[in-house]
Amino acid sequence: MAADLEAEVQAIDKSLLECSAEEIAVKWLQANDLQKEVYQHLAYYVPKIYCRGPNPAPQREDMLAQHVLLGPMEWYLCGEDPAFGFPKLEQANKPSHLCGRVFKVGEPTYSCRDCAVDPTCVLCMECFLGSIHREHRYRMTTSGGGGFCDCGDTEAWKEGPYCQKHELNTSETPEEEDPLVHLPEDMVARAYNIFAITFKYAVDILTWEKENELPGLEMIEKSDTYYCMLFNDEVHTYEQVIYTLQKAVNCTQKEAIGFATTVDRDGRRSVRYGDFQYCDQAKSVIVRNTSRQTKPLKVQVMHSSIVAHQSFGLKLLTWLGSVIGYSDGLRRILCQVGLQEGPDGENSSLVDKLMLYDSKLWKGARNVYHQLFMSSLLMDLKYKKLFAIRFARNYERLQSDFMKDDHDREFSIADLSIQIFTVPSLARMLITEENLMTTIIKTFMDHLRHRDIQGRFQFERYTALQAFKFRRVQSLILDLKYVLISKPTEWSDELRHKFLEGFDAFLELLKCMQGMDPITRQVGQHIEMEPEWEAAFTLQMKLTLVISMIQDWCALDEKVLIEAYKKCLTVLMQCHSGFTDGEQPIVLSMCGHSVETIRYCVSQEKVSIHLPVSRLLAGLHVLLSKTEVAYKFPELLPLSELSPPMLIEHPLRCLVLCAQVHAGMWRRNGFSLVNQIYYYHNVKCRREMFDKDIVMLQTGVSMMDPNHFLMIMLSRFELYQIFSTPDYGKRFSTENTNKDVVQQNNTLIEEMLYLIIMIVGERFSPGIGQVNATDEIKREIIHQLSIRPMAHSELVKALPEDENRETGMESVIEEVACFKKPGLTGRGLYELKPECARNFNLYFYHFSRAEQSKAEEAQRKLKRQNREDTALPPPALPPFCPLFASLVNILQSDVMLCIMGTILQWAVEHNGYAWSESMLQRVLHLLGMALQEEKQHLENLSEENVVTFTFTQKISRPGEAPNNSPSILAMLETLQNAPHLEVHKDMIRWILKTFNTIKKLRESSSTSPVAETEGNIMEESSRDKDKAERKRKAEIARLRREKIMAQMSEMQRHFINENKELFQQTLEELDTSTSGVHENSPVISDAKLTALGPEQTRVAEHRQVVMCILCQEEQEVKVDSRAMVLAAFIQRSTVLSKNRNKITPDPDKYDPLFMHPDLSCGTHTGSCGHIMHAHCWQRYFDAVQAKEQRRQQRLRVHTSYDVENGEFLCPLCECLSNTVIPLLPPPRVLFNRLDFSGQPNLTQWIKTISQQIKALYLLRDEDCASKSEEMNPYSESIKEMLTTFGTATYKVGLKVHPNEEDPRVPIMCWGSCAYTIQTIERILADEDKPLFGHLPCRQDDCLTSLTRFAAAHWTVSSLSAVQGHFCTLLASLVPNEKNGNLPCILDIDMFHLLVSLVLSFPAIHCQDFSGVSLGTGDLHLFHLVTMAHIVQILLTSSTEENGMDQENTNSEEEVAVLTLYKFLCQCTGSALKEISSGWHLWRNLKAGIMPFLRCSALFFHYLNGVPAPSEIQVNGTNQFEHLCSYLSLPNNLTCLFQENSDILNTLIESWCSNNEVKRYLEGKRHAISYARESNKLIDLPDDYSCLINQASNFSCPKSGGDKSRAPTLCLVCGTMLCSQSYCCQTELEGEDVGACTAHTYTCGSGVGIFLRVRECQVLFLAGKTKGCFYPPPYLDDYGETDQGLRRGNPLHLCKERFKKIQKLWQQHSITEEIGHAQEANQTLVGIDWQHL
Ligand SMILES: [Zn+2]
Ligand SMILES: [Zn+2]
Ligand SMILES: [Zn+2]
Ligand SMILES: [Zn+2]
Ligand SMILES: [Zn+2]
Ligand SMILES: [Zn+2]
Ligand SMILES: [Zn+2]
Repeated sequence: MAADLEAEVQAIDKSLLECSAEEIAVKWLQANDLQKEVYQHLAYYVPKIYCRGPNPAPQREDMLAQHVLLGPMEWYLCGEDPAFGFPKLEQANKPSHLCGRVFKVGEPTYSCRDCAVDPTCVLCMECFLGSIHREHRYRMTTSGGGGFCDCGDTEAWKEGPYCQKHELNTSETPEEEDPLVHLPEDMVARAYNIFAITFKYAVDILTWEKENELPGLEMIEKSDTYYCMLFNDEVHTYEQVIYTLQKAVNCTQKEAIGFATTVDRDGRRSVRYGDFQYCDQAKSVIVRNTSRQTKPLKVQVMHSSIVAHQSFGLKLLTWLGSVIGYSDGLRRILCQVGLQEGPDGENSSLVDKLMLYDSKLWKGARNVYHQLFMSSLLMDLKYKKLFAIRFARNYERLQSDFMKDDHDREFSIADLSIQIFTVPSLARMLITEENLMTTIIKTFMDHLRHRDIQGRFQFERYTALQAFKFRRVQSLILDLKYVLISKPTEWSDELRHKFLEGFDAFLELLKCMQGMDPITRQVGQHIEMEPEWEAAFTLQMKLTLVISMIQDWCALDEKVLIEAYKKCLTVLMQCHSGFTDGEQPIVLSMCGHSVETIRYCVSQEKVSIHLPVSRLLAGLHVLLSKTEVAYKFPELLPLSELSPPMLIEHPLRCLVLCAQVHAGMWRRNGFSLVNQIYYYHNVKCRREMFDKDIVMLQTGVSMMDPNHFLMIMLSRFELYQIFSTPDYGKRFSTENTNKDVVQQNNTLIEEMLYLIIMIVGERFSPGIGQVNATDEIKREIIHQLSIRPMAHSELVKALPEDENRETGMESVIEEVACFKKPGLTGRGLYELKPECARNFNLYFYHFSRAEQSKAEEAQRKLKRQNREDTALPPPALPPFCPLFASLVNILQSDVMLCIMGTILQWAVEHNGYAWSESMLQRVLHLLGMALQEEKQHLENLSEENVVTFTFTQKISRPGEAPNNSPSILAMLETLQNAPHLEVHKDMIRWILKTFNTIKKLRESSSTSPVAETEGNIMEESSRDKDKAERKRKAEIARLRREKIMAQMSEMQRHFINENKELFQQTLEELDTSTSGVHENSPVISDAKLTALGPEQTRVAEHRQVVMCILCQEEQEVKVDSRAMVLAAFIQRSTVLSKNRNKITPDPDKYDPLFMHPDLSCGTHTGSCGHIMHAHCWQRYFDAVQAKEQRRQQRLRVHTSYDVENGEFLCPLCECLSNTVIPLLPPPRVLFNRLDFSGQPNLTQWIKTISQQIKALYLLRDEDCASKSEEMNPYSESIKEMLTTFGTATYKVGLKVHPNEEDPRVPIMCWGSCAYTIQTIERILADEDKPLFGHLPCRQDDCLTSLTRFAAAHWTVSSLSAVQGHFCTLLASLVPNEKNGNLPCILDIDMFHLLVSLVLSFPAIHCQDFSGVSLGTGDLHLFHLVTMAHIVQILLTSSTEENGMDQENTNSEEEVAVLTLYKFLCQCTGSALKEISSGWHLWRNLKAGIMPFLRCSALFFHYLNGVPAPSEIQVNGTNQFEHLCSYLSLPNNLTCLFQENSDILNTLIESWCSNNEVKRYLEGKRHAISYARESNKLIDLPDDYSCLINQASNFSCPKSGGDKSRAPTLCLVCGTMLCSQSYCCQTELEGEDVGACTAHTYTCGSGVGIFLRVRECQVLFLAGKTKGCFYPPPYLDDYGETDQGLRRGNPLHLCKERFKKIQKLWQQHSITEEIGHAQEANQTLVGIDWQHL
């Protein structure tokens, strides 16, 4: 069947390819009825090309469609071969200066914060880089897809609208030229024809709903072939769809995943192909299976030819999009065709049809036509406007469709509003001509129909569907924001009219919110269910910016402002028309004043937090106050209609509610209320909530008698009784036994005083006080920084943002703060400038309680540091604007004085708990404010003004009968000496001092007399004061000392843990200074130091005593004592790898004896350097293991370490470890003989050894070799540890199960020693540090133990195995007949070879009685390997002779090396490249051999313990010579060859005759050359957006061309991966793992360092279960990282931080870092790292 189909298809293809596009086009050109001709053509061919089988074949379809269908259209359009026609068109085109690049998902976009008209104006990367904005303050974001580059749009940019590329075109094209003039007339006609036909065809077929016929097309062959088409919805999950499909259409899981992925991406996919019944059957199964809980998945059985035509319809739309790209003229024609009204009138144009059908189309189709709209209608200035009108007229319907649709907004045509409404001229036009503002608001209201009886929105008992709709409807608010975002520069009458009409609609909206979600205090029982509150707050939050923007609009035109004010007032009166109804008014009276008000208790009746109408009025009132009218003719304002008590009533209730909540009176109303109060004050809402309520109270007070205001306020706070009735206060404190009530009232009094402070003190908004906008923002910043220094992002979060996401901070920050740059960690911080501290107001209204107390503490501390007194008096304030000026009188009103007097009286009487210190503190603050006010009045006194503010007089007056209370001043003086008020003394003193200053001022201006007798009191008190002060200071000093001591010991404890490195370095300094003493001892002073061989410098042995960190016992390290061990961590490593693609061999068969010079995988050992008894460690580890098993049974959680794999944390520093290394005395001393007479030379030695090896082989053949038991000097405990560590190295290094008998164990031990030394040598070289004396103590200890261990390990392994290893190793250099087939010298890492040879040699030596010293053997082995390495270097050296200027010296070395090289040429049969420059060769050789010599020096140093000569402990010249001397080598290395020429010539010949060497020289294979360069992490670009761009161009390698959702860059090799996604999961050791984990196994043998590009986050992975995130090395200008790329500030590479990451990698500390991170943050343990 399949084969038949295939054959049939091929036959058709063949016939199709015979069609001639040109001939068809000619036929069309002559046709009378073109549409008929074209339709016939399509009807015949489309079903032959598309939908021929169950699966689409896009490549074949595209190819055929281009040939048979599109080809003729292009011929027709061009009137000639399109291969010539289109380029001609392109050339003749005067392209528009718009860029219009449509963004891909994840592509970086840029917005200029200085020049963009609003934040939606963005540039593509290319345009941005060529624009002036790259030098401005810009923001970078990643696009969510859709949207296009605004380069060239003059309306989008205040400055620099063009980039360099698009600017070129502007000079030539006049703005409004008709692009059609550039096209020949006949072409215009043809374009009209073909566009009209094809566009109509596409629209008709896409919007077609019938199943068995086609629009205007005949069904040529009516076959019984159908598709079962599955559509996307947002209800069902991936898993549900996959499961259902497997059941319904019998496919594999893999196929089902494929279907589901396509459905999700394209919006639909056929899941079955066949006759109708067959498809219908699948449909019913799917519907049945998915209809249980939710609405079923959408499935449709469609005839194959309909699907075919739809596929081609989409293709046509794409084709149209690309054709109009050739010419702006063609684009205009297409726009015209699209917007032309059809015969059915309104909404019958093709564009309208598509738009209105949008919500019924599948995702893929929507995407295609949206793209076409963007590249056509939105790119043509004339038609953009016409399209905007169509869009606005259909707005209501489009939005309703969108509400019903379940796709995200980005897939809806409604989303185009951002492209249209944000164009200022279009927005203005749509407001005035299409009444858009009103339309949007009305549409919004229409969709929120749920109301209560008063007509207010009601969100309680909201169904899921309503909640869903509510989420969707919020996008309309966004549209409103777009329309308002650019403010008009001039107003026409029409605009005024339409704006005010919109304003009316907006007030209607706010009216529905005024008083919504009312609450009543719950008494007795706790509420049963938390009421719904979030919806109302969401609405408020979304509207906040719109409300602010509407006020901004009003502010621009006085006429509009006054009209709006009147309208708003009317609506407010409507809202509260009934508020005085019902009960009789009550009368309040105090201090001879009385006022009438209503009876209302917040604690008993309904109250609402939502008062947007009141708040809008408050906002408009402030704007009015700013106008000129308000200064000159306030009587012209509609103020007379205001009823101040009505204005303040509701805001006051709301503020009282907050106070009561704070006093704990609403506890039974649950958390919802607490949350609401939180948001009410939060920076996101407060601007249009809390702030405006304060403004409304200020407005009220300024228009009424302050005494009246205060009495109403007392009444609403339910405190009227306490203050109005003399002695009530006393009763209240003594009689009342209910402590809770007293506490409650105390809090309410505190809150009320705080509110008065705010009403008087908050005058930093322009319009209230005489300030400008920057004063307001400065004050906010000052108060934030008073709490503590803050990072830029913290400040931004604490400040309100405007509609352009700006806080205005940058313009003022320098005036109030200094910036401190970050170090290697942490972030940059802003610190408050000291001179700004005087502006600090303790009762700043935006402080939360916690912030207030932190700020208070910080500011007092600062004052103490500056040795000032600690009073925090109120700052001097700017004067009020005239409209608010009378407000200050509240401070000197009778009721206020009464309240203050009463509270002071309580404090003086100091009885019981009826008052609180906070209460007093606030009264003192108010007193201070009043004094500041009076002082300023006096200072700014001008001739004609009389000071009406006479606070000082009033507080000097004693109370009247019957109380006869003392004056406020007198009470203050009393309190000054009260012992219980120590903390407030400074403040009281400040008040008295200020009082005196004012008195003097008054006297000098001789305005009024002030009561005398103050002088004495002042003097007396000052003596007292001094004494108290001294005592206080002493006390503070004592406390501080104690605190410091405590801190010190705490710090010490932390220090060791957190700064191991540092700590150890200091130890090391001590260490080197002490060991310096040893070295200067006469034994070795001045002598030449030699590390090995018969000449090796003797070192006096010194006892090594160490302490166990577990039992704190000291012990000497000796061969026969109990073992001491170091915690150690062994890991496989590829850090030095020169071949990351190498396939790791099967560990069970792998022979690690020879290390390949590509070092592709080594075994690294590290240690934190902490020492334990072996038995203490055993006990500790057993306990950890037991605990862990219990824990895992109980909690089933991972830990940061894997006990089953032998992992544990160092008990001291919590460093991850997986084994221990035993500490040993220098092992060679035990076996070395000290008789040096008559040692053989190299030639003799090799001969002897060869004979011995022969003998060994003979011996071995005879009897089984014995263990080295009899000569093992170590204690049992040490032997056990030798085995433990050896086995661990074997297990980790080879990834096999532990087996201590395996002959590969000793090889792995030597290998780990060699590899670890090599890594450390590289780190030192990269950091330009000298070889010795600069290693941190832990590494030094680790290398010592590791080398000694590796040297001693043979004593616990099979002697014959070790001997065998030695023989094989040696045979690679000195061939014998037994060992054939060894790697050639090009394929051996010589340092590994050296270490293995030297460390296995004792196994031979111990059975030898020829009298040759072990040292001699070492020396000869070393020389032999060195010579082999020299040959290796010379063979592989890629010297370019003419590369560099050579000096014309002919030194001995150069001559010698040239001779050697010539000999090599000879041996290789002249295959070696001819080099005649000895200078180059010698230079190359020296550079190539250096790392080897340095490693060897380290190795012999740790092996034999000979101190390093001081010359190689510093960087300097002649390092090479010093090294040679230390290593007992001649400076002229080639001398080695000459000295031993008899044997060497033979050896060299044998090395060079190897087949592999020949192949290499013939260029048939590759070999490593020397010196190997150090590996580094990849280079990262300076600008982070380069990476974003790179990632946006990266698509998933597995699912053809799809964008990867989490592109992740391997920092080791630079591979980009598709992380955290199903598509790229692979199986690893039987588990599904993500792309990153899989990559670590090939690239980093389990360890990986990645950069998650979208998140801007570094990821460390180790194994499958361990990982952590690490701060990225990219910082913004404020020294902060931006993990998650949320802020969008430009990011640049911080080289130091990147180096730090690189160092972690080179030092093999990634796993350790992860361990520490996971210990510190347990949530990291729970993440499924293997899926990343
Ligand atoms: Zn662009
Ligand atoms: Zn551009
Ligand atoms: Zn700019
Ligand atoms: Zn111990
Ligand atoms: Zn440790
Ligand atoms: Zn993928
Ligand atoms: Zn990699």
